[in-house]
Amino acid sequence: MKPTLVLVGRPNVGKSTLFNRLTKSRDALVADFPGLTRDRHYGHGKVGSKDYLVVDTGGFEPVVKEGILHEMARQTLQAVDEADVVLFLVDARQGLAPQDKQIADQLRKTGRKVWLAVNKAEGMRRDVVTAEFFELGLGDPLAISAAHGDGLRELIDLVLADFPPAAEEEDSQHPKIAIIGRPNVGKSTLVNSILGEERVIAFDAPGTTRDSIYIDFEREGKPYTIIDTAGVRRRGKVTEAIEKFSVIKTLQAVEDANVAVLVLDAKLEISDQDASLAGFILESGRALVIAINKWDNLPLEQREMIKREVERKLNFLSFAKLHFISALQGDGVGGLFKSIDKAYSSAMVKLSTPQLIRALQLATEKQAPPRAGMFRPKMRYAHQGGSNPPVVVVHGTSLEHVPDSYWRYLEHSFVKMFQLEGTPLRVQFKRGD
Ligand code: GDP
Ligand code: GDP
Repeated sequence: MKPTLVLVGRPNVGKSTLFNRLTKSRDALVADFPGLTRDRHYGHGKVGSKDYLVVDTGGFEPVVKEGILHEMARQTLQAVDEADVVLFLVDARQGLAPQDKQIADQLRKTGRKVWLAVNKAEGMRRDVVTAEFFELGLGDPLAISAAHGDGLRELIDLVLADFPPAAEEEDSQHPKIAIIGRPNVGKSTLVNSILGEERVIAFDAPGTTRDSIYIDFEREGKPYTIIDTAGVRRRGKVTEAIEKFSVIKTLQAVEDANVAVLVLDAKLEISDQDASLAGFILESGRALVIAINKWDNLPLEQREMIKREVERKLNFLSFAKLHFISALQGDGVGGLFKSIDKAYSSAMVKLSTPQLIRALQLATEKQAPPRAGMFRPKMRYAHQGGSNPPVVVVHGTSLEHVPDSYWRYLEHSFVKMFQLEGTPLRVQFKRGD
């Protein structure tokens, strides 16, 4: 599992700037989706050989009824509790603020190791900017500049020193399905509904509160694993502690799955948190099926309305199939599994080099890559560079001048030609011949 870094600190110290830096390699991917860029608070990153996940706690959605500050603090503390690395940011330009001291006190109470980073330190002497922050009692402050990138490599090397480089993932031979979504959308009900009919083969109790439950089962003779982030409430047992929503548990489950099922509540609007999760799923490249739950008791004309809202707010997930289900009544679960199977086989598809070269020819004949000034990009051949999601590596010349729109065109063309469903497909360009 990749370690998870959590960024904490008062507003305006530079958390989201640092978040963007630490996940920078993904910028190109998300640049096309304005809604997604704005809502990003969960992301992937890599420095050297180390992969990690990052959570910006500045993005935690407040629950209005409980009071904004109260809820933010609760979610942040939970993330701190579950994180592998806690990074506390302060502001070199503003100096030590009373709120920094309060946060430091709270962090100290958690007993977690906390790394203190003094941001906005570009062009300043390290010993001078860090001096006043020793008072926080969190060890040596590290001077960084999130905006300029100063000190970030050292910071990441330091905080991740004890974490081994990510091991090569072994390919699962069957669908591993993460059931994710906000609290109360019906995840447990769905898991119960699925398992109620099926033969459960193995059941892994979670090790810690941030661990999901892994359940192996068979459906129509085929093996599956469900990664249950909600904690299944066993049938017949009415009372069971309500689980707290755990961002980190959810992100880890998506990482470890090959198909994610994002459960939404038909009666609720799509929230920022839903969009953040959706953005993370897109980044992760996982196959995806969207289940709009609680479809029972809803007038039929609302179906189109909800569908439009999903299409508008989650437009970057247009590759995913939408299912309207009632987990409570078990309606629509069969259809959901058809899409899960298709998404899985699409994500794992093996495309031969001759097949891909032919597809590339067809796509470029239909529409040639546009000339860019003096350059005319030329695409020569293609081969598969990975699965889940399928990656197609295209070789040629002047490929750095291919516009994003044409990039998307190629991706869509391959998806169509190979009849993929429920998975993104990525095209990478390689220069030279
Ligand atoms: P957040 O509220 O903690 O997420 O803070 P933001 O990332 O939104 O940053 C707040 C402000 O500080 C923005 O205007 C940033 O451009 C600025 N900022 C962030 N990092 C740096 C830095 O390293 N140096 C300087 N000078 N400004 C920064
Ligand atoms: P979780 O927190 O996402 O695991 O959500 P639960 O499975 O605990 O469900 C939250 C509430 O929604 C419970 O009261 C369920 O009975 C209810 N619920 C779940 N699925 C459905 C459904 O399909 N229709 C209706 N009407 N209620 C549902």
